[in-house]
Amino acid sequence: MNNAKIWLSSPHMGGNEQHYIKEAFDTNWVAPLGPNVTGFEQDLEHFLKEEVQIAALSSGTAAIHLGLVLLGVQAGDEVICQSFTFSASCNPILYLGATPVFIDSESETWNMCPVALEEAIVDRISKGKKPKAIIPVHLYGMPFKADEINAVAQKYQIPILEDSAEALGSTYKGRKCGTFGTIAALSFNGNKIITTSGGGALVGHSKETKDKAVFLATQARDAAPHYQHSEIGYNYRLSNICAGIGRGQMEILEKHINLRRQMHDFYVDFFKDIKEVTVFAEPNSDYFSNHWLSCIVIDTKALGKSSADLRIALEQENIECRPLWKPMHMQPIFEHYPYYGAKVSQQLFENGLCLPSGSNLTDNDKIRISSALKSFFNIF
Ligand SMILES: *Cc1c(COP(=O)(O)O)cnc(C)c1O
Repeated sequence: MNNAKIWLSSPHMGGNEQHYIKEAFDTNWVAPLGPNVTGFEQDLEHFLKEEVQIAALSSGTAAIHLGLVLLGVQAGDEVICQSFTFSASCNPILYLGATPVFIDSESETWNMCPVALEEAIVDRISKGKKPKAIIPVHLYGMPFKADEINAVAQKYQIPILEDSAEALGSTYKGRKCGTFGTIAALSFNGNKIITTSGGGALVGHSKETKDKAVFLATQARDAAPHYQHSEIGYNYRLSNICAGIGRGQMEILEKHINLRRQMHDFYVDFFKDIKEVTVFAEPNSDYFSNHWLSCIVIDTKALGKSSADLRIALEQENIECRPLWKPMHMQPIFEHYPYYGAKVSQQLFENGLCLPSGSNLTDNDKIRISSALKSFFNIF
């Protein structure tokens, strides 16, 4: 049997990507604007429905950064952010000289705990500063508790910047992730559910929001024959070449979501009789996850072996896996910022693992994964 590396989540082309790229070359639209950028934005708008307006950008991080700018976040402000996430959710808060306030997760969706969120808002207001925005995340494609989070945000009139970087195609009560926030961010990085090699998008709900995002993303040029600027601009627009990849990827998005969900089912089936392992799954039928990554949590005490032991065992078989995100409030660079909650995310980090989840894993890959898991769990 060949022993080629099995990746956690690798790019998976549909076939038509190069057609759109060739078109860009043939028409000389080799620039950060053009028909592919416009076409990709329309494909995304059509997919998300809900009358959204999309600005294609160079990364998901850029979308979060511009989202905060559009929400009026300035130096000295406070911004609430889910702690259990990738650092790109909160780095842009620091780019703006604002202060992150981190919130623990609840154990059902692993996302921002609405109770800890409200506790934080009340406490920050009592200390004299009302947070300017809330950044909840649909981690690993699992929708956050949108009704509860929205209710808290509404009650205190604080806008939501929804980090939907991992959740394209996920839904909550039938509504697509990426349409809940005042503004949302999508990512098309290399390991995401679809990729443009690198890219992202800002999702807004009005033409003004989109136009302002594009204005800021293209160096904030005022309407004048010369180069005139009355605002700080950024160079954050998506390349027309990369957008061509995105158009091809949109053609196979639904199919690839199904394949990711099949990988999740594969693990649910594998672990059904192993009581020390819990596969991360939707709490009920309100939630539909794209299962961007399939994750498990190990009862380390009961099993007598840890998630790190499993990771090392799989790596010896050339199978990539990864610890769950290390919470931001535990990171050396962020640990001195305010944190509200208990130890839900910390315990997930300490006992969890992401397993190979790509839409391009073959039957042979699954055989290798299951035989490596069988030998670790002593199943014969
Ligand atoms: C990938 C990711 C981002 C950032 O997206 P990039 O396109 O890589 O800049 C932000 N938040 C989360 C949760 C992510 O997984």
